[in-house]
Amino acid sequence: VFNFSAGPATLPEPVLRQAAEEMLDWHGTGMSVMEMSHRGKAFVSIAEQAEADLRELLAVPDNYRVLFLQGGATAQFAAVPLNLVGDAPVVDYVNTGSWSKKAIAEAGKYTRVNVVAEGGKGDPMGIPAQATWQCDPQAAYLHYCANETITGVEFADIPDSGDVPLVSDMSSTFLSRPLDVSRFGVIYAGAQKNFGPAGLTVVIVRDDLLDRASSLTPSIWDYKRQAEADSMLNTPATYSLYIAGLVFQWLKGEGGLEVMAERNHQKASKLYAAIDGSAFYRNPVEPSARSWMNVPFVLADDSLDGQFLSEAESAGLSTLKGHRSVGGMRASIYNAMPEAGVDALIEFMADFEKRHG
Ligand code: PLP
Repeated sequence: VFNFSAGPATLPEPVLRQAAEEMLDWHGTGMSVMEMSHRGKAFVSIAEQAEADLRELLAVPDNYRVLFLQGGATAQFAAVPLNLVGDAPVVDYVNTGSWSKKAIAEAGKYTRVNVVAEGGKGDPMGIPAQATWQCDPQAAYLHYCANETITGVEFADIPDSGDVPLVSDMSSTFLSRPLDVSRFGVIYAGAQKNFGPAGLTVVIVRDDLLDRASSLTPSIWDYKRQAEADSMLNTPATYSLYIAGLVFQWLKGEGGLEVMAERNHQKASKLYAAIDGSAFYRNPVEPSARSWMNVPFVLADDSLDGQFLSEAESAGLSTLKGHRSVGGMRASIYNAMPEAGVDALIEFMADFEKRHG
């Protein structure tokens, strides 16, 4: 079965096999990782290795801290303003869709939000050119969602925020390609799409931003306190972190993020070409803003949606239903989706069109 779920999503098969092998006895300890004290030598070595591998994959500069937290990206919608606003009167947000909107609404509980641009609307959906953004020079930071998982609207490039720290929700694009971490103040991403099970959130924060937290910041989401405690202020999501560590090793073994970028670009290009080459299917996003990770598409005749989904399921192509807010279909094709899965989907789509078009 090829699983096209947007998240929790498919994981690399070798990772799942290794986890199954080590389930009852991790490296001769006689224990499952799930049963280990997070402060014991064995688990601390797992956490340290995971951080080292992630730093290596992304070439994270030394002046950045890598935190492994809980609460998902949704917790970061609040943690970002709580940690970063300091004395600033306002924060800047780009709105490119549902996840941007949620981040904006949450930030609005703590500070004044200036929405610099509205994108991800209309047909086709796109991202307004940066020259048109109405940024506030007094903003504590500029926030954007690198990839809107629901509509498949993705930034092809990193915006330029000048001297203002740039913050990005990278939940559904993290580790899909190389990233220049030095351009950011904060990057955050929930694991359950591209690098692990739910329950784990990675936060990468530049260390000069660690002294701005509001005194009301919950301790577990206070970046400085978590950095000082090596992300173990309380019990971390130990098993999720262990699996993420296996994914990081798998990524290194596959050749790293350059190789992932090539594969992801290839998979997405094929799928968009198949959609664009047919009058039966359509993707509603401008080519310059199309996601490599989540490819939504609609059928010209939406009365066939149910049949498409049930036949796809029978053909071993699972979870293609679009998000409930937009309908249609969505194929999420993260790192762990092999090209063979995309090929199988394209073949199925062509066959379905032949029979129903
Ligand atoms: N941001 C993006 C881009 C997402 O895709 C999601 C989840 O789908 C979230 C935030 C929310 O993540 P979580 O459920 O981990 O809080």
